[in-house]
Amino acid sequence: MSEKEVKEEINPFIGDVKPNWCLGCGNYGLLTATTNALAKLGFKPNEVVFTSGIGCSSNFPHWTSVYGIHSLHGRSLPVAMGVRLTNPTLTVIAVSGDGDTYGIGMGHFIHAARRNLDMTCLVMNNQINGLTTGQYSPTSQLGHITITSPLNGVDEYPINPISLALGAGTSFVARGFSGNRKHLQSIIEKAIQHKGFAFVDVLSPCVTFNRLNTYSWFRERVYELGDDHDTTNICDGLIKAQEWGEKIPIGVFYQIMKPSLKDLDPTLQDRIPVNEPLGFKAQGINIQDILDEFR
Ligand code: SF4
Repeated sequence: MSEKEVKEEINPFIGDVKPNWCLGCGNYGLLTATTNALAKLGFKPNEVVFTSGIGCSSNFPHWTSVYGIHSLHGRSLPVAMGVRLTNPTLTVIAVSGDGDTYGIGMGHFIHAARRNLDMTCLVMNNQINGLTTGQYSPTSQLGHITITSPLNGVDEYPINPISLALGAGTSFVARGFSGNRKHLQSIIEKAIQHKGFAFVDVLSPCVTFNRLNTYSWFRERVYELGDDHDTTNICDGLIKAQEWGEKIPIGVFYQIMKPSLKDLDPTLQDRIPVNEPLGFKAQGINIQDILDEFR
């Protein structure tokens, strides 16, 4: 048995279906870091659910052994919020890409941040739309020549996910690099353990369609935030979030504890709706009678 097989055997979160991502895709690093983090934290597969949207990265739940909902484009977060509210016994992790989260799913991202529900959001950011063969995405670099910007390159400024998350009120904001898997795993462990909305932007190179932001491009630039970075100071986080170019910081930018929507809304507390009777039976209303009225 190879070392890889041994590792897979002892990690109960690895699924039977092998990923069909391109060889070398950055998403593999996140898959390994996340499943290792869950195993290290002592979770069982039936205690975790992944939700995803659409894109190469959103195939993620298929490659694991836990519950998964491969939903609609940009909808990994609303589905995750629904699971979080209906079954608070599950650990909820939304996984998706930059096109999915920062494009069509942008509104959901901001509202998920301000609701601060206890869940984790992992975004595989490869600065390109990989599944649809290389159109530029909301994080593509200015001037990047792609099939949808063939002449002068991308002429829209890229979104800064870290600044955006901080501005939206996210209580845990971090960035990892799939080429630094141990460090990425340590961030994901912190994100899963965080009580509130934990966001991790993961630099995850697309080796097929993004020939600009490659592993070597990142390796020349990324550095780990040190102990001197104050993760409780949002101003420090915002200053570090502006670094992108010659140097790119990875690590936890910001973390605070604050009440969530569930804590603040009395109707959401102390309930496990998934265990309650379906429909309105609890209020003595027969849903079938109501449906019959409309036949
Ligand atoms: Fe990964 Fe890019 Fe291949 Fe999609 S196209 S699997 S993002 S390398």
